[in-house]
Amino acid sequence: MTTEIITGGCLCGHIRYCAQHPRDPHTCSCSMCRKHTGALTALWVEFDSKNVTWNGEGGMPSLFRSSENTRRAFCPQCGSSVGAVDDAPVIALLAGGFDNPGRDYCIPEYHSLRMSYRRGQLIRRIMTLTDCGLSPACVVADA
Ligand SMILES: [Zn+2]
Ligand SMILES: [Zn+2]
Repeated sequence: MTTEIITGGCLCGHIRYCAQHPRDPHTCSCSMCRKHTGALTALWVEFDSKNVTWNGEGGMPSLFRSSENTRRAFCPQCGSSVGAVDDAPVIALLAGGFDNPGRDYCIPEYHSLRMSYRRGQLIRRIMTLTDCGLSPACVVADA
């Protein structure tokens, strides 16, 4: 998608990362993503683990095993959710932590919805992303 070096991190700056070769941008509103982020919808971008470097003073984020194959990553100082580190060599970063989230690779390609929001509520949620300038394609795809 892009060779841009993506930078980002947590609220306090203790956890910082740079990453390359983003793929599979998607939103999710499953109960784990909601609890992990405190938001109704999380916007994820995935990377091969080898393409993510934790370069802040805190190094690796703290990890909480949320399911059999993934651990949720967060800053031990400020508590910000930063991503998910899978056992498979994949790291998903929460695009809200990117320094420049308004890029094409942040436009979600699908919504990984694992709970039963009614359709109208889902569309309103996606419209909110659009209002931030992130997701015109998603509204068309879901209309
Ligand atoms: Zn922090
Ligand atoms: Zn989820």
